[in-house]
Amino acid sequence: MTTNLSIKVLVLEDVPSDSELMLRELRCHGIEPTCLPAGTEAEYLAALDLAPDIILADYTLPQYTALRALEQLKERALNIPFIVVSGSIGEEKAVEMIRLGAADYLLKDRLARLGPAVRQALEKSRLKREKGHSDAALRFSEARFQLALNNVPHPFVLYDDSLRIIFVNTSGARFFGQPENQIVGRRDQDLFPEDVTERFLPELQKARKMRQPRSVECVLPMPSGEQSFLIHYVPLLTSDGSIGEILGIAVDITEWQKMEQLKNDMLSAVSHEMRSPLTAIIGFSEFLLETEVNREKQVEYIDIIHQESERLQELIENVLDLQRLKASFNNDDFDLLIIQRLLQKVLNRVHAQQKDYSFVLDCPLNLPLLEGNEAHLYRALKNLLANAVKYSERGSTITLGARVEEDQALLWVKDQGVGIPEQALGQVFDRFFRVDTGNQRKSGGTGLGLALVKDIAEGHQGRAWVESTLGKGSTFYLSLPLKQAGSPD
Ligand code: ADP
Repeated sequence: MTTNLSIKVLVLEDVPSDSELMLRELRCHGIEPTCLPAGTEAEYLAALDLAPDIILADYTLPQYTALRALEQLKERALNIPFIVVSGSIGEEKAVEMIRLGAADYLLKDRLARLGPAVRQALEKSRLKREKGHSDAALRFSEARFQLALNNVPHPFVLYDDSLRIIFVNTSGARFFGQPENQIVGRRDQDLFPEDVTERFLPELQKARKMRQPRSVECVLPMPSGEQSFLIHYVPLLTSDGSIGEILGIAVDITEWQKMEQLKNDMLSAVSHEMRSPLTAIIGFSEFLLETEVNREKQVEYIDIIHQESERLQELIENVLDLQRLKASFNNDDFDLLIIQRLLQKVLNRVHAQQKDYSFVLDCPLNLPLLEGNEAHLYRALKNLLANAVKYSERGSTITLGARVEEDQALLWVKDQGVGIPEQALGQVFDRFFRVDTGNQRKSGGTGLGLALVKDIAEGHQGRAWVESTLGKGSTFYLSLPLKQAGSPD
């Protein structure tokens, strides 16, 4: 059962009666043709612009041929079925026309086949068009998929079942240290030396053998130095349970591992540091509870308990501050600060508690405003001044100063104290680092004060460092970028 069909037919034919015969034939087959007649090359080319659904072409015209017409159709990359209808056409020519892209050919004295031939050609052309659309959609989704994978910030690799690489994303190419086209088709062993592949290849092989995901943590040499990776291998199983490809994803866990290590170190150091004040507090309070002692001894022991409690409090505050700092640095907490006022405020506070030292403020009044977090900077300067007191003899002078150097505000605390041995200069800002001399151990401390100072400087995009001469004194510096001229408040 054929359905009615309305189509635009370009008829390339110089004999009008032949055209009419063709159209009639089509109508007999339920096809309603709108005819675009063309008897010459010019008329044909003009009719092509009217988007015909099909072309019926006589093989030879006085000054034109179906062959040329077909070529011109292809040159325009038009997907319009082209049927040759001819009075006489040899087998060879007909085959040649089909080879060049004609949909069909038929003889004028066998026109009964025209209707079915037109329907068939139209259907084929429709299918071709649809396939073209779905191919384009596929190419588009492949391209999108590839774009997405190339933007995944982790190395992503697909292996075939012989463990050759069939796809690698941009990050993966960096991981292997080779351009993508040098990686595809090769195996891990071709890209890394054996002492490197042995750290992860066995897991990839196990994933294939056991048909189960495997993960491995390993340290690998990268151009920027050793990095730790967590690599997952996931076999992609087909519907019948056999292995298709194996997916490899590597996650750089270097920073995360460092943080974990830092946390563990911090936890054990904090517990260690808490032990000695707690032992003193418990020991002396038990002694006082159980033993009759005179008032003088009582005061002495209670003073020790008090000092040790303060040390514990300082330790806990420092630990909490360090953690808060890590979480809290954002520019919303920044204000425009008058440097001189900030310095004066810290100095007054420390001076009130430490009357036995001479404090000097060395700060011009006309310094530009500093954009920063007042509470944090106050804390940093207070730590530096407290250290200056702690590591200096009574009666010595401690200077708190500020000046501008290029686009930075330079704040410093200078003392005339014990100084720091040269080999320890690079470490004093590390958490829990304390210069190990019996003398300084007595002064108590947590080894966290300078770590806080460094974090505060870095939270302001600045830096902290120290210059020191053993036995003569130290100067601690904070260099902080000044508010950029013209930047909004
Ligand atoms: P602490 O609580 O031990 O003072 P910090 O982090 O503040 O911890 O300092 C780390 C170490 O740096 C101190 O233990 C001390 O050895 C050294 N240090 C810090 N400030 C000074 C200073 N002004 N003079 C000499 N040594 C200092």
